[in-house]
Amino acid sequence: MQPMTNSLGRLRDIIAHKLCHRCGSCAGICPTGVIRPGRDYYPEWEGREKSCTDCDLCVRVCPGIEFSFPGNAQRIFGRTPTAADTHGLFLKAYIGYATDTALREGATSGGLGTQIPLWMIGSGKARGAFAVVVDEACPWRPKAIIARTSEQLFAARLSKYPACPVNHLFADIKNETGPFVFTGLPCHIHSVRKIASLNRALGDKIALTVGLFCHSCLEHQAIRDIFEIYGIDEKTIDRVEYRGGKLPGYIRALTKRGEWVYLPYPHLGPDKYRPNAKECLTFFFKFYSPPRCRLCIDASAEYADITIGDPWYKGWEADEKLRQGYSLIIARTERGLRALEEAQAAGVIALEPFPADRISLSQVAMVRHKKMRAEHNITRRMRKGLPVPSYGFYPGASISDNKVVAHASVCAPSLAVRLRAALHCATYFAADRPRLGTPLFRFLLSRPGRYVVGALFFPRRVLQALWEKLKHRAGRQRYFMKNSGV
Ligand SMILES: Cc1cc2nc3c(=O)[nH]c(=O)nc-3n(C[C@H](O)[C@H](O)[C@H](O)COP(=O)(O)OP(=O)(O)OC[C@H]3O[C@@H](n4cnc5c(N)ncnc54)[C@H](O)[C@@H]3O)c2cc1C
Ligand code: SF4
Ligand code: SF4
Ligand code: SF4
Repeated sequence: MQPMTNSLGRLRDIIAHKLCHRCGSCAGICPTGVIRPGRDYYPEWEGREKSCTDCDLCVRVCPGIEFSFPGNAQRIFGRTPTAADTHGLFLKAYIGYATDTALREGATSGGLGTQIPLWMIGSGKARGAFAVVVDEACPWRPKAIIARTSEQLFAARLSKYPACPVNHLFADIKNETGPFVFTGLPCHIHSVRKIASLNRALGDKIALTVGLFCHSCLEHQAIRDIFEIYGIDEKTIDRVEYRGGKLPGYIRALTKRGEWVYLPYPHLGPDKYRPNAKECLTFFFKFYSPPRCRLCIDASAEYADITIGDPWYKGWEADEKLRQGYSLIIARTERGLRALEEAQAAGVIALEPFPADRISLSQVAMVRHKKMRAEHNITRRMRKGLPVPSYGFYPGASISDNKVVAHASVCAPSLAVRLRAALHCATYFAADRPRLGTPLFRFLLSRPGRYVVGALFFPRRVLQALWEKLKHRAGRQRYFMKNSGV
């Protein structure tokens, strides 16, 4: 066996300490092609160690161990975030959608994730785009490709939740002129920023970065377990959709015979209560959120040129019109803003300004929980002497008294905040204890378990919808498209 180089040894430690995002950047930057995504998409180099020159680029690019929030904010935006910048720094915000009705209907939210790269390629501003499709070798597994045609981009519509590397594809584009549109999760975007600072020529091949909001991804084992629980044979499935149908959508698998199997509880008729995609993901994360996601503090792709997500601004639950498909859009940089304005002028997207001061209220619970969760877990790991990701500020400084505050400011969280964070993190107890978690998950997905899941989500869904409807009637929801009459 070849001796392992220092750099590969450090990479092995990053993975062993559960700090790897599976972003793929180490594979993407490696000049000798030693690293590739392997089982469950963790980086692997077995049998190729002898080509390693120990240049250390794979470790230096790794956002799993280091991504300086203040440093990158200063470099990209010329300033660091303040207490008010809960969703990162930005220039303008909108809600909007792709004007191509078919595209919009078949997309996760408003279809901008597909329409922006499509328009950039169509108008000659880009030669291709990083996109995530369903792997033809496995119907539930996502796979990143460089899309160059509208067919490929259409095939990449819809969010895929199992962990998926994207940045290994930098190895494929290094000899191409480009430029390319990059779409990815916040951790993918961190790596793009790091790649650009380590290899300027590679970074210059990216014309635009589009980041997605992200609470967590899922371990691959989640889908393997669900298939096993319901006796579904992978070979009979064409593809799995994690957000099938419009907001909030359902998790469903299309069989090769052309029938939809809705998950979980495939035996239930359409008239029965079934948790929707949002509810399912909320509870699947409690069992299968990867450890690194629970140390991640970026919920809204704070370092992308443009961020897109669901318009989970209060009011969506009760609003049928939102189910036609809308995206919340944050233009962060000049080039992001220019791309949006040009796409709007070309008539491919419709945008309505969204009040900047309201952005901090969008998905506030998700953003807050994610940062609180990370801070709690980082502090716990530090106490145990385990390595933690470095974000360029002391982790205990990001949250104060129930508000997500400046990344750079130093203010210890109050006892109440710490208690809340501890309680929230305790709800993930099964994710770190598969021996306990797997039987519990099996029970919840069984016929009797359905009543427990229903009792947890159903009353909440009804009450929330009623509450939002009341507020809507009282005229307190004013922030949706004027031209759609919402
Ligand atoms: C793991 C994950 C978690 C998310 N969590 C949230 C959340 O908490 N709140 C929220 O508002 N939005 C979240 N999103 C984003 C949301 O689901 C939509 O992707 C977003 O609103 C864009 O919708 P769209 O209709 O514009 O995109 P579409 O037109 O449907 O295009 C989807 C785009 O996303 C890309 N993509 C799909 N899956 C992945 C992936 N795994 N990695 C990288 N790129 C991918 C595709 O290549 C395509 O470009 C999440 C997405 C993912 C993949
Ligand atoms: S990037 Fe450099 S150190 Fe890392 S595996 Fe490749 S050659 Fe080795
Ligand atoms: S660069 Fe990305 S894939 Fe490689 S070890 Fe770091 S986090 Fe994991
Ligand atoms: S939670 Fe963070 S680490 Fe996990 S997939 Fe989302 S952006 Fe990446």
